[in-house]
Parts: sequence; structure tokens; C-alpha cells
Amino acid sequence: MKTEPTAGLVPATGRLVSELVRENIRALSPYSTARDEYVGELGVFLDANENPYDNGLNRYPDPYQRQLKRRLAEIRGAAVENIFVGNGSDEVIDLAFRVFCTPGVDCALSVAPTYGMYRVAAATNDVRMVEVQLGENFELDTDRLLAAAPEAKLLFICSPNNPSGNSFPHEQLRRLLSSFGGMVVLDEAYIDFSSRASFLAELDRWPNLVILQTLSKAWGMAGLRLGLAFASSYVTGLFTRVKYPYNINALAQRTALERLATDVAPQVREIVSERRRLAEALAQLPVVKHVYPSDANFLLVRFDDPREIYRRLIGAGLIVRDRSSIPGCEGCLRITVGTPEENGKLLEEL
Ligand SMILES: *Cc1c(COP(=O)(O)O)cnc(C)c1O
Repeated sequence: MKTEPTAGLVPATGRLVSELVRENIRALSPYSTARDEYVGELGVFLDANENPYDNGLNRYPDPYQRQLKRRLAEIRGAAVENIFVGNGSDEVIDLAFRVFCTPGVDCALSVAPTYGMYRVAAATNDVRMVEVQLGENFELDTDRLLAAAPEAKLLFICSPNNPSGNSFPHEQLRRLLSSFGGMVVLDEAYIDFSSRASFLAELDRWPNLVILQTLSKAWGMAGLRLGLAFASSYVTGLFTRVKYPYNINALAQRTALERLATDVAPQVREIVSERRRLAEALAQLPVVKHVYPSDANFLLVRFDDPREIYRRLIGAGLIVRDRSSIPGCEGCLRITVGTPEENGKLLEEL
């Protein structure tokens, strides 16, 4: 008999993390698949109503992605039971709301500007989202943030932040984790491009922490849709209980395992060095007003006339993201760092 993992305490309140979980989710007994009842790999499988003729895809995938998680555990230096794999980070963000927030009752907290999915997932789950504007250079005021919604169940912090590109000091993250009464979701989608280390090394210290990473950016697998969450085994267990049984399809599991054998570090190094080259070259251009420092694989760049620049770049076949209508990003385009050739083309056009 497996023992239930312990929930741990929220440092700020001294209360159990399990008290933050919606009551219906705490009480939930999950759908049990044929693959839950019998786990071995060899045998004659007459248990899941599959087509018996082997075509490489006729069997249901492993609902727990065990092989993939073992490999990810090696790569990231985490324990398998602390890893959850979602259909993109977007699934994990949605699950966080579904597990911790009662629709129409609870609220969540984040900063602005930041990744748009937190707000969308809040809205689809009928959860009020309180957003606190970052400073002029996108710096974080932790006291203001904490005071904005002390009753919130979730706090989303993206570091390095999208679309601003800056990251927040670990000391600020610790302050939030020790003072916020709910769960802190730290989105590290761009951590591999950052000069700051991942916060993953501190996972064991914080029962109220969920760290998101993704295979969509540095790992180059955006098309596969694989998002990772690192959290206590209690929290990964909750996500596992609520997710669709076969949320990660067989092709995605198999392809990710194959591709994780390739070392992407040289690509990441090149992207980081291109980021520096691009930032320096952009700053020299007369049309550019400001290039914000970036710890990610994109640059937020302020122009005098962003709409006109955007339109002209499109005309030249160069697609960037217009962020100029977002409060705090007035005049700004977000430019992803491409290959040296692509970046050269962009500079030439500008
Ligand atoms: C791109 C991005 C992700 C990745 O989302 P996936 O669903 O895993 O592709 C997550 N968070 C942020 C802030 C991002 O910019």
C-alpha cells in the first residue's frame, strides 16, 4: 500500500497546503485506466479494448509518462515524483486554477505586463485576477504585490518575464514564498537563456512552490506541446489526479525521449550571443529609442513609431510581435532572437 505524500505547510500561515485545495478535488477519486490496474510491459493485452494489430500507435500511451519523466529527472536533477508533464505549460496553468481556485469565489494574483495565459486561464475558470503593475523598468515591488490581494490562492511570477525579458532576484522570490499565503507558480519558460540560475535547487524548501518549465523554447519542441511542472509530490499528485488520463500522446512521449538525447546547449549559447549582438546593434539605430536588457530569447525594443516599423517589417517578410498597446510597453515591439542570418536581415531592414 502506497502512503499518501504529505502536503507540507505554507510558511506564511503555518497551515497545510492541502487546506488551499478545493474540497471537491481533495475528495476526488480519479478515473482508473486499464494501464493503472496492470503496469507490466510484456504480455497479451486484452484489457483496454485496443485494436490488437501492431501499427506503432494502436496501444494507449503511459498515462504517467514514466520513461519521459525518468529522463527529465536526470536532465534537471529532480526526483521523478516531483515532476508533472502537461500538454504544454498551458495545461499546467489551467490545472493550477482547477485544483486550487473555486470558480466565482477565489482570486489569483500576478504582475503586469506578463504572460497572457495566466489571465485567460483565470477568466475561463471564473477566477478574479488581480494584477500589480511592474515598475518603469519592469522591476518588482514585492510589498506592493503582497498587499494587493492577501487572500489570493495563486500567485503567478514569470522569471525571466515575458514580454519584458528581465528576471527577478532569488531574494525577491524567497520573500514572496515566505510571505504569500497561497501557492506561488514560478514560470521559468526562459530560464535556459538566463544568467540567473533556476530556482529548482530550492524546490524542497518550499511546499507552496510550483515551478513551470517547458520544452517549447530552449529545447526546440514547441510543436510537441510539453510543459513541465516541478512541485512537491503532494502537488504533482493533485495535478495527476485532475488531468485527462492520457494527456500526453504516444508520439509526443516517444519523440521527446529521442530529442532529449540531443544537447541543445550549443544552440542556446548561440542564441544568447546573438541576443547580445542584436541588442548592441539595435541600440545604435536611429529608429530605436530603447532596448531593454533581456535574460530570455527575445528583446523588448522601444521605437518612436512602432506601428509603422511593424508594418514595414511585415512588408519585408519579417514578423515580430507588436506589444505597444500593453500598458507599460508603450512603443514596444517584441523581437525573438533568430538565426544569425535572420537577425542580420532584421538589422538591415531597420
Ligand atoms: C512560451 C511560454 C510558455 C510555454 O508554453 P507552452 O504551453 O509550454 O508552449 C510558458 N510560459 C511563458 C511565460 C511563455 O512565454
